[in-house]
Amino acid sequence: MTLGVAWALDWMRGAAARVEHHKDELVELDRQIGDGDHGANLARGLATVVARLEELSSPPALVSDVLRVAATTVMSTVGGASGPLYGTAFLRAARVTARPELDPQGLVAMLEACVDGAHQRGGAVVGDKTMVDALAPAAEAAARAAGEGADVVGVLRAASLAARAGAESTAGLTAVKGRASYLGERSVGVADPGAVSSALVVEAAYEAAAAAMRRAA
Ligand code: ADP
Ligand code: MG
Repeated sequence: MTLGVAWALDWMRGAAARVEHHKDELVELDRQIGDGDHGANLARGLATVVARLEELSSPPALVSDVLRVAATTVMSTVGGASGPLYGTAFLRAARVTARPELDPQGLVAMLEACVDGAHQRGGAVVGDKTMVDALAPAAEAAARAAGEGADVVGVLRAASLAARAGAESTAGLTAVKGRASYLGERSVGVADPGAVSSALVVEAAYEAAAAAMRRAA
């Protein structure tokens, strides 16, 4: 099985729903180590992505068509640090997904492109207590799973579990990038809101794939 445009649309709907559902939790994390806007901003941005995808005059043909709408919308509607970071991640992902269907290697390339985009935009590496701490392990786990012969659902399941573990690991880290870095060591003990939201977005990609698999069965 491969994953196509229907999956990508389902992914965006699922990401918007998940972030909306966990909005208060994200706001609370960002209130503790930032300015408290992350959950609300991202939820609004992803809801706008879904709305714009529904309004397209011609249906998207390629996975990259969906990701490009996500990139431009998130960039223009989610403020703060995370809007341009998510936007760049989606934009890079769009560059490597100009295909109607993605196989396991295509998903790995997409996730690696997200990491590269976030890294190049914000300069953060693993351990800096940012979204990179969720995205980088997700891409690595996906590559490992694909190398071991996993199917598209298995690849995204591995990515999703690694993103969640990575997000949880940020609670033990000191922020050195973004607003949370102003707190220095006082940021320890609270998970990074962008890492947690990134895990939600990767989990939505997995859920959408699992649903596609169930429909195909
Ligand atoms: P702001 O701090 O401007 O209010 P948001 O609340 O929208 O930004 O987003 C905060 C999140 O952005 C952080 O939790 C972190 O994951 C991410 N972030 C901030 N700076 C960077 C960076 N330089 N690189 C990667 N991610 C970053
Ligand atoms: Mg904030």
